[in-house]
Amino acid sequence: MIVKKRYPLKKITTIGLGGHCKEFICPEDETELMQIINKDPLLIGNGSNICFITEFYDRSIVSLKRMKKYIHLDKKYISCSSNISCTKLARYLHDNKQPGYEFLYGIPGTIAGAVSMNAGAFEREIMPYVHSLDLLDENGTIYTLKNNEISYSYRTSNINEKSIIISVNLVKQTTNFDMNLLNLLNQKRKISQPINQLSCGCIFKNPSGDYAARLIDSAQLKGSRAGGIYISHKHSNYFINDGSGTYRDFLVLLRRVKEVIASKFSIKLDEEVILLK
Ligand SMILES: Cc1cc2nc3c(=O)[nH]c(=O)nc-3n(C[C@H](O)[C@H](O)[C@H](O)COP(=O)(O)OP(=O)(O)OC[C@H]3O[C@@H](n4cnc5c(N)ncnc54)[C@H](O)[C@@H]3O)c2cc1C
Repeated sequence: MIVKKRYPLKKITTIGLGGHCKEFICPEDETELMQIINKDPLLIGNGSNICFITEFYDRSIVSLKRMKKYIHLDKKYISCSSNISCTKLARYLHDNKQPGYEFLYGIPGTIAGAVSMNAGAFEREIMPYVHSLDLLDENGTIYTLKNNEISYSYRTSNINEKSIIISVNLVKQTTNFDMNLLNLLNQKRKISQPINQLSCGCIFKNPSGDYAARLIDSAQLKGSRAGGIYISHKHSNYFINDGSGTYRDFLVLLRRVKEVIASKFSIKLDEEVILLK
């Protein structure tokens, strides 16, 4: 098992901010995972929806990236390990002519991260397609949650924060398979979103009946900058780290956007990104 003390937080999120954590642990199998659950760790997938806003995160962080990865198809279900990337899963299902999961392609996270915060794109979200999840609780007991035991809404679920998602079972969809859909959605994503830059996806949840990006645009905040963090010119709900950004810059920009939107439109923006300190 790999255990790295005082690990740089920049290395484990896609926006690349923050100082160090107490330790970063990568178990290789379930036996090793069992040995560290008593540390009350933070589980991290690909760190694409997390931003550390601290010099020192005083907790163990666990990644399952070195554990076995698999995807199985049977007559009714798609079962996969929780550490599979959304893009790999979507590509595999496309290659096997399984419809309905094309929207996951290009989401730069793991299926565990996607389920945990009910990720979605192109008018779809993952949770309605989850048949069940296998989890490990803080006492080392594996249990299963069925879809009807999970409540969820826009970018959130009630999955116990102390439980570790080990595997995900999705329902096979019965819609017609469209050979072109995956590429089409991928093109749309490339046109509308800044990919291959340091970011953590959408910063704010869309307020009811509106879009955070539209509000930020209307307030002429596009391109607005604090130190090394700026609002993307391509998509106003993305903050980009130009490589020199710090979590303090991030917080300055975050506060500025919230204040301007509140004063101009009387709308309170809530973060979609998980802020950890
Ligand atoms: C360029 C870009 C584009 C994006 N596009 C989209 C999009 O279209 N739609 C969308 O919804 N999001 C999008 N995101 C945000 C992000 O990719 C998704 O939210 C993704 O599902 C997060 O997965 P992750 O593995 O990175 O999770 P992380 O960010 O690592 O973690 C997210 C949450 O899941 C928990 N978690 C992770 N693994 C486990 C586990 N095994 N067990 C228990 N809990 C766990 C973490 O503790 C945390 O609470 C985008 C991000 C970027 C950078």
